[in-house]
Amino acid sequence: MLQNRLYYAQPNCKDFTANILKQTKDEEDKTYIILNQTAFYPTGGGQPHDTGTINGVKVTDVVEVDNEIRHYMATPLESTGEVHCVIDWERRFDHMQQHAGQHILSAAFVELLNLETVSFHLGKSLVSIDLDASDISNEQLQAVENLANNIILENRPIDVKWVTENELSAYPLRKEIQATGEIRLVIIPDFDYNGCGGTHPESTGQVNGLKILSVEKHRGQTRVHFVCGRRILQQLHDKTAVVKEASRLLSAPEEEIGQAIEKLLANNHTLEKSIKEKDELLLQCEAQELIQAQQDSVIAVNFENCSIQQLQKLARLIAAESNDLTVLLAAENDDKLQFVAAKGSLVDASMKTISTAILPKINGKGGGSDAFVQGGGELTMSAENLIEMMKATLKS
Ligand SMILES: [Zn+2]
Repeated sequence: MLQNRLYYAQPNCKDFTANILKQTKDEEDKTYIILNQTAFYPTGGGQPHDTGTINGVKVTDVVEVDNEIRHYMATPLESTGEVHCVIDWERRFDHMQQHAGQHILSAAFVELLNLETVSFHLGKSLVSIDLDASDISNEQLQAVENLANNIILENRPIDVKWVTENELSAYPLRKEIQATGEIRLVIIPDFDYNGCGGTHPESTGQVNGLKILSVEKHRGQTRVHFVCGRRILQQLHDKTAVVKEASRLLSAPEEEIGQAIEKLLANNHTLEKSIKEKDELLLQCEAQELIQAQQDSVIAVNFENCSIQQLQKLARLIAAESNDLTVLLAAENDDKLQFVAAKGSLVDASMKTISTAILPKINGKGGGSDAFVQGGGELTMSAENLIEMMKATLKS
């Protein structure tokens, strides 16, 4: 059973000695080492590789290629012969917790909801499985989480058995196994029977708890994010900090954050409404002022930073109020030049002649009716010059 793979033979092996069989480079010129035996787990089955050191030099990646386990090194190793190897146990044990937790969670979804796990992802901070389901209720998730934590609390053994294809029929497997030859079964008695090449603790108690964090739809399936073991504490730590900060910013106790945000949003809504009303009023005043100050039949004004919506409103207010007036408005907004031209009902000229003449000069787009046109383009001239050009067009 692959005796030279210590991560199988001695799953708790944290350091070991081995002999270097070869040190060489791959096609990308990266140095790797092959040992006569190793406890470094190579990436596989959804579980990331181990890290650690060989004679004090960092192992950056571990990959299995053609039945050989390559230990990629940060720098080439000076030594030959026997070497001392150390596994980054915190990382490995974390992977063992998450991986065994995944077995338990997947089995709990089958047991309670008959839902198959289609894929598994073990990331740096989050772990997820994809389930063949379009919808799972919160109650169902809670029940599955409870079952998983009961299995963990019962501290059942996690056994490993090497079997042949012919022996598989003796086990109630969670998923069909395609492999041939020697097959590794990971067994939680009376709960989960599964073909797996990863590393796991020796009993479920070492998973030390499982928490489902969130669920999202993903390509017609459901992705369940969860964490096990120490990652639960990390999550609690991070989330506590967020809640604390929110509580401080809102000057509300933690349990009243929801209400405080609702209040803030309602307040914000009222303010927005009030500002809108005041803006409207301001535009009406401005329209009145322009009408009263006008000396001929054309009102022409240029602005800085006045939105096209405000220009439109102002022009419409004036044209509606004084049916013998023409209104030409333009504004410089950041790197854009925008304009509006409108006329009262008694004015003959078509505003379209203005947009047709102006738009090419500012590489712009726009249009409208005989009574009202608008447009915008590049800041090829000032708003003041644009207004002059509009006036001249109107006169001709
Ligand atoms: Zn596994």
